[in-house]
Amino acid sequence: MDLKFFEKLTNLPGVSGREKYVREFMREEISKLTDEIVQDNLGSIMGVSKGKGPVIMIAGHMDEVGAIVTGIKDNGFIQVKSIGGIDGNVFLSQNMRIITDEGKEIRGVFGSTPPHIGRGLDQGSQKLEVDDMLLDIGADSADHAKELGVKIGQQVVPVNDFYVTADGKKVVSKAWDNRLGCGVALEALKYAMSKEHPNTVYAGATVQEEVGLRGAITISQMINPDLFIAIDCSPVGDFLDKNHPRSFGALGKGFLLRFYDPRCIMHQGMKEFFIETAEKYNIPYQPFLSMGGTDAAAAQLSNEGILSATIGMPARYIHSTAGMIHVDDYDAVLEMVKKIIDIVDEKVLEEIKSNV
Ligand SMILES: [Zn+2]
Repeated sequence: MDLKFFEKLTNLPGVSGREKYVREFMREEISKLTDEIVQDNLGSIMGVSKGKGPVIMIAGHMDEVGAIVTGIKDNGFIQVKSIGGIDGNVFLSQNMRIITDEGKEIRGVFGSTPPHIGRGLDQGSQKLEVDDMLLDIGADSADHAKELGVKIGQQVVPVNDFYVTADGKKVVSKAWDNRLGCGVALEALKYAMSKEHPNTVYAGATVQEEVGLRGAITISQMINPDLFIAIDCSPVGDFLDKNHPRSFGALGKGFLLRFYDPRCIMHQGMKEFFIETAEKYNIPYQPFLSMGGTDAAAAQLSNEGILSATIGMPARYIHSTAGMIHVDDYDAVLEMVKKIIDIVDEKVLEEIKSNV
């Protein structure tokens, strides 16, 4: 796993609907591999590696959770609207960046109330909503904030502290969900371009996954692949008590076979194909139940019902300012993707399809 590469990719700001900087990065990387690049009007982007056989789409998503600027108070504090599922109790006291129209960063903090102020007052405990929190960028008035370059609609993302843990195996960063998938898609494209394969591969990334799998709808309808594979991070519960009903999945135990989520029940043929392939090539995997959704759910409902599945990347603490992944799981995810590129021809596709 090229950590320098992933540090660059995860640091980029890309709240849903504001994926420009991530897309520029993806376009640059894709264009090093192929001249054939497709982009739809919402901004999802794919590189193409042509071959004879079925069309396989391999997609991460470029967007991340965060917020956008919705207003500036007279006292210079910034009002925001959360984008994607984020929790105020998690974002309180976090350092953030507003990205201006020129691409500059204005740093600020979702300020917390020091205990000194609350001491002696019964405040009870409350559930914080990001939309009620104010971002303090140090501006003294609304005009001051405007002078600094703040405008309505600009994206707000966390300041990133990317690091490898002391054991050298785990990596902490913002936006693993889902720059990890973007990076895997690029590696998949590189692999496909390096060899003959019995299919045509579209590999790249979608937009606006975190706000309802929107980009996957348009790009999958546009390309109409025979097979859609979402690469996405899923939150494992290995830090919970082992009797906890959501203690599914663990870091370092292989890719996640997402057999069920509320929006996508894994296609029977796909499930059997995944298990057979992983076992045949000794790729570690873990059955995984998720209460979230991925782009696979959107592709599945596109056109005549595109065959779809997710190769899940185990991650702790996603939808926060600091998630954690395991480098060995990255190898398992990538290996599974490569095997799909190697194996899926017309015959395999028909076998999967007929097993519904
Ligand atoms: Zn995701």
